[in-house]
Amino acid sequence: MAIVGRPNVGKSTLFNRLIRKRKSITDPTPGVTRDPVSETTILGNRKLEVIDTGGLTESREFLDRLITQRSFSAMEQADVLVFVLDVTELTPEDEEFINRLRQFRDRLILAVNKVDNPTRELEAYNFLSLGFDSVFPLSAAHGAGVEELVEEILRRI
Ligand code: GDP
Ligand code: MG
Repeated sequence: MAIVGRPNVGKSTLFNRLIRKRKSITDPTPGVTRDPVSETTILGNRKLEVIDTGGLTESREFLDRLITQRSFSAMEQADVLVFVLDVTELTPEDEEFINRLRQFRDRLILAVNKVDNPTRELEAYNFLSLGFDSVFPLSAAHGAGVEELVEEILRRI
C-alpha cells in the first residue's frame, strides 16, 4: 500500500500512525521526505508493506523530478493507493495530480486529512465533487478517522 499526494498534506504523519512508529520525518516544511520510506506492518489481521512516497511535485527542479518518478514507480507496484489531500487547502498541484492519478483509480482511496473538527468534516465531503466515489475524512495528527481508513484498505487487499 502506498501513501501518495503533494508535499505537506500529512502523508508521513499518516504513515507513522499506520506503522505505529515515528519512522518517517514529518515537518511543516514541504518536501522533507526525499526517498520513499517503507515498513512492513500488521493492519487488522493482515501483514502489509506500507510505503510513504517522497511526495509528488510538479517542480521542474531535478531532485523533485526524481522524487516524482520514484513515487510513480512505487504507485505502479502498490495494490492500494491512499491519495491524501488537505481539507484546508486544495492547490493547483493537487488538481494536476488528481488528473494524473486517474490511471490508478481502481485502487485509489481518497483520504482528506487535517479534519481536526466537525466543520472540517463537512468540508471534507465537498471533495467528492472532484470525481471520487467516496471520501475518508481523517486527522492523521489526532487519529480520528484512521480506523475507518484502515478498514477500507483491508477491504481492498
Ligand atoms: P507530508 O509532507 O505529506 O509527509 O506531510 P507531514 O506528515 O510532514 O505533515 C505536514 C504538516 O502537516 C506537519 O506540520 C504536520 O504536523 C501537519 N499535519 C499532519 N497531519 C495533520 C492533521 O491531521 N491535522 C493538522 N492540523 N495538521 C496535520
Ligand atoms: Mg512526508
